[in-house]
Amino acid sequence: MIVTRFAPSPTGRLHVGNVRTALLNWLLARQAGGRFILRLDDTDTARSTEEFAQSIRDDLQWLGMAPDAEEKQSARMARYEEVLGALAAAGHAYRAYETPEELDLKRKVLLGRGLPPVYDRAALQLTDADHQRFEAEGRKPHWRFRLDAALPHEWDDLIRGPSKIDPASLSDPVIRRADGSWLYMLPSVIDDVDMGITHVVRGEDHVTNTGIQLQMFAAMGKPAPLFGHAALLTGADGALSKRLGSIGVSEFRDRGIEPIAVKALLARLGTSQPVEPVTSDAPLLAAFDISHLGRATARFDEAELERLNASILHHTPHSAVAGRTTLTEAEWNAVRGNIASVAEAEQWKTVIHGPLAAPALEADDGAYVRDAAAALAALPFDDGVWAALTDALKSATGRKGKALFMPLRLALTGQPHGPDMAALLPLIGRDEALKRLGA
Ligand code: GLU
Repeated sequence: MIVTRFAPSPTGRLHVGNVRTALLNWLLARQAGGRFILRLDDTDTARSTEEFAQSIRDDLQWLGMAPDAEEKQSARMARYEEVLGALAAAGHAYRAYETPEELDLKRKVLLGRGLPPVYDRAALQLTDADHQRFEAEGRKPHWRFRLDAALPHEWDDLIRGPSKIDPASLSDPVIRRADGSWLYMLPSVIDDVDMGITHVVRGEDHVTNTGIQLQMFAAMGKPAPLFGHAALLTGADGALSKRLGSIGVSEFRDRGIEPIAVKALLARLGTSQPVEPVTSDAPLLAAFDISHLGRATARFDEAELERLNASILHHTPHSAVAGRTTLTEAEWNAVRGNIASVAEAEQWKTVIHGPLAAPALEADDGAYVRDAAAALAALPFDDGVWAALTDALKSATGRKGKALFMPLRLALTGQPHGPDMAALLPLIGRDEALKRLGA
């Protein structure tokens, strides 16, 4: 059973990069009939809010990616404490007292000597008496995890292939601060163990964390999940843009982007598979293969999303938008090929039902359009009426092409472009069409 999780911190709204991470985990679980868990990484109690947590739930809901379960790190503090105790007893975690200033100084000295600024583990030399003295002075320890070259630090990344870190080149990570608050690293591992997570897909900014966390799984005596690290998104210009951090579901929604368009684009971005204008999840799930993600950064282009959204709408069935449009199925089918958002379809509703402002026709088109009204009045008003009308006018006037069609389109819709007139005219109806042509 595949179990994945999406683990945002509720310290802000989801941006497009988070949405992609959620989607990859959702696809992996859903495709295999597994479970997809929302884990709120809310150990930072000062910055985490219920409002952001709710916006994350709402965004996932809107995207059609509601999780099977929700977990909150803030509810699991006792468990983290328990595991830290066991790790400390086994020598995998230790207390240290250096202040940020002292640590900074150590780093500067090492850098000054041209050495990597790796923590010197001075705290490992502290005796029981030292600890007692510090505590008597009121100094509280922070906790570090002891990296160990003998513990696993290599993995076969689902996306990047064989990967590793060098534990000796890294400082033992601080896992708990002196004020008792937790850093992300260890709680995440404890959660992945306790929640039975089988696959972790996240951004490549977490690659080093993975090497460290592999050591933590081993120190807990637990198997690690499989890991995949997706290359980061860039803006359309290929640069890591600030703008991406501010684009999220509310922007998509405001711009009339459909959830399926977001999924269709993000599921294929950075993969060898083409982006396709699908109208449901099924084809995305069927074709999803995490190994198709490449190592190069993927470009997220807002204009591409808008184009994809339009081409998806062009064959979206009425049933998928019912409740969000006042158009009937016939009206929707007639106009969907000409809209960039569902909301835009309402403009065509007005075109179909009026009232329309009288269009400005070329001088010699006035009489032509009035002749058209007479011709239309004599024709049976059925689904073939547009073809019959234009055939009749062609033989009667000798007009063809644009000269034949454009004055009629302008008079009937008030616009020079739009949906196929053969589909629109029956919807406009006989009386209204005669009125517009006669006007
Ligand atoms: N809260 C972490 C983040 O948003 C989770 C990383 C992970 O997936 O383990 O970066």
